[in-house]
Amino acid sequence: MYSNSVSSSVIAVAEPWGSYQSQIKLSQWVEVLVDCPGCLDLFTYKIPDQLLIKPGDILSVPFGATQVGGIAIRLLTQPNVDIPLEKIREVEDVVSTGFFPSGYWTLLNQVAAYYYTPLIQVVRVALPPGLLGRSQRRIRLTPLAKENIAVYISPTAQQVINLLQKASTADYSYHYIQQKVKAAYRGIRELIRLGLAENYLEPPRLTQPKLQKAVTLLDNHDDDLTSRQKEIVEVLRRQGGEMWQSELLRLCSTSTSTLKALVDKGYIVIEDREILRREQGVTVIGDHHKSLTPAQNNALETINSLTRFAQVLLHGVTGSGKTEVYLQAISPIVEQGKSALVLVPEIGLTPQLTDRFRARFGNKVQVYHSALSDGERYDTWRQMLTGEPQIIIGTRSAIFAPLPNLGLIILDEEHDSSFKQDAPIPTYHARTVAQWRAALENCPLILGSATPSLESWVSRNHQYLSLPERINSRPLPPVEIVDMRQELKEGNRSIFSRKLQNALEQLEEKQQQGILFIHRRGHSTFVSCRSCGYVLECPHCDVSLAYHHVEAGAQELLRCHYCNYGRLHPPHCPECSSPYLKFFGSGTQRVAQELNKQFPNLKIIRFDSDTTNTKGAHRNLLTKFANGEAHLLVGTQMLTKGLDLPQVTLVGVVAADGLLHLSDYRANERTFQTLTQVAGRAGRGDDPGRVIIQTYTPEHPIIAAVQKHDYQSFCDAELAQRQALNYPPYGRLILLRLSSLDPIQVQNVAQIIATFLSDKEGFEILGPAPASILRVANRYRWQILLKFAPDALPNLPDWQQVRSLCPSSVSLTIDVDPINIM
Ligand code: ADP
Ligand code: ZN
Ligand code: ZN
Repeated sequence: MYSNSVSSSVIAVAEPWGSYQSQIKLSQWVEVLVDCPGCLDLFTYKIPDQLLIKPGDILSVPFGATQVGGIAIRLLTQPNVDIPLEKIREVEDVVSTGFFPSGYWTLLNQVAAYYYTPLIQVVRVALPPGLLGRSQRRIRLTPLAKENIAVYISPTAQQVINLLQKASTADYSYHYIQQKVKAAYRGIRELIRLGLAENYLEPPRLTQPKLQKAVTLLDNHDDDLTSRQKEIVEVLRRQGGEMWQSELLRLCSTSTSTLKALVDKGYIVIEDREILRREQGVTVIGDHHKSLTPAQNNALETINSLTRFAQVLLHGVTGSGKTEVYLQAISPIVEQGKSALVLVPEIGLTPQLTDRFRARFGNKVQVYHSALSDGERYDTWRQMLTGEPQIIIGTRSAIFAPLPNLGLIILDEEHDSSFKQDAPIPTYHARTVAQWRAALENCPLILGSATPSLESWVSRNHQYLSLPERINSRPLPPVEIVDMRQELKEGNRSIFSRKLQNALEQLEEKQQQGILFIHRRGHSTFVSCRSCGYVLECPHCDVSLAYHHVEAGAQELLRCHYCNYGRLHPPHCPECSSPYLKFFGSGTQRVAQELNKQFPNLKIIRFDSDTTNTKGAHRNLLTKFANGEAHLLVGTQMLTKGLDLPQVTLVGVVAADGLLHLSDYRANERTFQTLTQVAGRAGRGDDPGRVIIQTYTPEHPIIAAVQKHDYQSFCDAELAQRQALNYPPYGRLILLRLSSLDPIQVQNVAQIIATFLSDKEGFEILGPAPASILRVANRYRWQILLKFAPDALPNLPDWQQVRSLCPSSVSLTIDVDPINIM
């Protein structure tokens, strides 16, 4: 067993696994992912003559003085370690095959090749830690052994047989047998060779469903209710008419006897229902398919007719019922015994979405994302490997969920940039991987969005389906643009225009609800001296510190959003000692404070990464808001994604300008998507919606397109610009990110690499240039951008050679199809 330290080398080509027969003869070595904590490399083992091994097989291998589990990753015709052949140890046995869906390893190899990443790094993204650690390898006797066939077996093998025969089920864990019989593995191997015993991995078992009391609201008129009882009925109604009793008791701070009184009056029923495991919280239960609109129906029929690999772009305006189409598209898939994978951008919106799926499919729904604990992730994995039809809802990395028998993949909000991983490697895009996976599994892929990415929009590889109208012919909310320059001219110095102030007052009067979108989290962007202009900066990064004010009376804190450096707010300017050291800008905190000052009766909930960083916080805050405990939800980017709250009538955008002026070729696209999505949260229920966008550049074409809900004109203008400059989707990009503690060295290396690349043909080189924030966490960052035509893939440079130009003090990341170029 020897480490190959592959992490420093590149595995450039995916191997075709098709010709399996020929590989058996050629491959005498195998790289194994050994299941032990802290093992970061692949290890090479020899394949004994009698064993057939495929990638993905679970193996038992010697490791130090013990036997451990491992996964066969790649077959090799040459050992790729620099040691005498006789020192390479042998695989002991194959424990299980077919543990991973066929094609799974092809997919991982494809990712490794396309993103120029060592396979082991891809495996680490794809597999949860300690996958095999808790799996039970068990040994059982075969029917043959019970027939008492007379064959010669060794004393050790005989001991194992004797032991197993004593067990009532004729099976024991490998571990147990090892403890009872000396050198048991030899005996076991012998028995398996003779067909008298077999290995298996104990499949995970579904635990018994747990029952819990659920409360259902009955149709009734509330004339004979006390005000307390009315309140409870109202909470229940707002939750869709059904809730767990424990939740209702908690939310209403009431007792079971109060509920009992409501049962007696015939307003509610309480009954035992199956509890859905692994995620607690408010769950609407027993939802049924809605009867579809003609456009939804058309989309569903097309999707249902797809039986093999095909891509669908489902372009539906906000509130057009895309999720309902997903739900009904999944239904027949599950009935056929297959599984579905649903990817969503962020965890902020999964509670609501997950609830909708659970309401339809109960405990067939599993959630998989990086915020799960190792244990939860592991359990979900094991659950997937049972092969039972299920629905996985997850973020980016869930594209690697090892669901067998995948029947459908859905990417909701496919335009969202969180599907792209910037770091660490592999810098994969879940949409790209989803396309490969759907092709390998031969199943359809649905890309859904109200604002499709330009990549998807111009792609000719899919069927286009459109939901051009909102459900119940509700109009898209009118968008009003407010020129903030004019406000200032007319003497309004508040961060809220008079129009927005009016609208906020009305929320209070009419007891309606609204959403206020701010581009930045935290209190403000920076603190500066009004006397000398000095700006407080992070000592480790080239950015200003952000002001965080936790609560009245608490210490005022400054924090760096790049490296998390923090310090107290100094009372005087460090430069000129002036006491006028103030913060500028308008983060969520600042806006919340302004709101409290100007509208003391307006109840607000802050929803940003500062207030949602504890487990379950998203759900709690959204539940509070849905229950009408606040008038206004104030927050950042997270608010734009998928929230479906029918009672929201007002959406305000404090300042659209921060979005517009990002120094990135995607700034326009991102602004259009964000503003359209956030506007789409208004007017989804019976009351009409209204959107107010404040800006200092009302004449900007993107603002005009957002106002008219005009995706087409946005696309036309933006695509023309992209085409003129060969930017995606008309060109492809590869970004080389270099960083080092030494500012001179990284600059020199960047120059050396750029010179090396400039000899090559087929691509254009932009840079080297310093990153827009040169220093982060004391590392200086430079970058080189390669641009080339998408169809005529150039002779890309030999990355191994490029890496060799980097001394160990300079790190290099190759970002393929980069999204953030800053
Ligand atoms: P989108 O995902 O396109 O923004 P949703 O799927 O969230 O839209 O649908 C918006 C709202 O309309 C949801 O509350 C949903 O329950 C409801 N809805 C969807 N389809 C129908 C339908 N066919 N009939 C009635 N209501 C529907
Ligand atoms: Zn000063
Ligand atoms: Zn910093």
